[in-house]
Amino acid sequence: MHYYSGDMTSEPILKVSNLVRHFGPVKAVDGISFELSAGQSVGLIGANGAGKTTTMRLLTTLDLPDSGDIIFAGIDATAYPEKVRARIGWMPDGFDPIDHTTVHDYIDFFARAYGLSGSKRVEEVQRVLSFCGIDALSSRYINKLSKGQTQRLSLARMLIGNPDFLVMDEPAAGLDPQARIEFKQLVRELQGQGKTLLISSHILSELAEMCDTMIFMDKGLIIRRGSQEELTQMPEQGVLYSVRVVGDTTPLLAWLAESPEWQGAMVQADGTVQATCTAEGEEAQARALRALCGEHLVLEAARRRRNLEETFVNILQEEK
Ligand code: ATP
Repeated sequence: MHYYSGDMTSEPILKVSNLVRHFGPVKAVDGISFELSAGQSVGLIGANGAGKTTTMRLLTTLDLPDSGDIIFAGIDATAYPEKVRARIGWMPDGFDPIDHTTVHDYIDFFARAYGLSGSKRVEEVQRVLSFCGIDALSSRYINKLSKGQTQRLSLARMLIGNPDFLVMDEPAAGLDPQARIEFKQLVRELQGQGKTLLISSHILSELAEMCDTMIFMDKGLIIRRGSQEELTQMPEQGVLYSVRVVGDTTPLLAWLAESPEWQGAMVQADGTVQATCTAEGEEAQARALRALCGEHLVLEAARRRRNLEETFVNILQEEK
């Protein structure tokens, strides 16, 4: 069983144990376990089809697992979904706009569905619209909104009732750079309110900015979990070097391809060659570097910190 624990300083708000959801032969979620502490922001990372959306749909009680437990705030969410739903917000990937419905009416509809009435509903609709910066768009038809405005509407819908666990599937997909910055700012404000966040995204640099912990999924399993620091500096990934040589890089690339201690050599946009030294231990690494410098006219060789994207690709290759 893959079992990972979050920050154990407080009782976890969410405990997931051995969760399984298969669709016929497809093992969308194949026995995952993890815990989230209240106030934690976790990024869910995985290639297409890794099982992220299925996991999120299970956690938000939109789907039932074949087996396994989801305990939210001490409540069995699978057995008693109606007891936890009010505390869980869900922002799905994509949005189907409805014709002839204004921003206000749309949010008002979901506030009614949430069970709010009278002045409480009026206040809640106003609260979420203004938090998301779309109160001025109240009378606009939702099928006429821009992508960024639609994301804010989707966020506003999720926040009705002030849930404390927010699950967002690809929330920043398709946003322009400015809208992305604004979206991240809203996420930070939600973090500041102490909410627990689970966010999936294919833009890993962005997740790294929003989340303190990452969960890597592949083929329905959690294959790694940790902080960005921990994941990008795992010793088994080797040490990444950036090397600048005099003139043509072809001889260096050919030499690296033949050297068992060097892997994944490629030329970068700035003309440097990036490669991973897999020699174990500092002494062996220094020898590998000396061998490289002995064979080529090296102007500069520097250790480089691997980013989350490179780490993810590396881990996937290791898993193959
Ligand atoms: P993406 O990044 O592309 O959104 P994902 O990590 O969210 O991918 P899921 O949507 O969870 O992946 O899908 C995991 C696997 O389960 C895929 O092979 C998918 O085709 C399959 N799957 C998901 N939902 C269903 C369903 N309702 N019926 C059949 N197969 C499904």
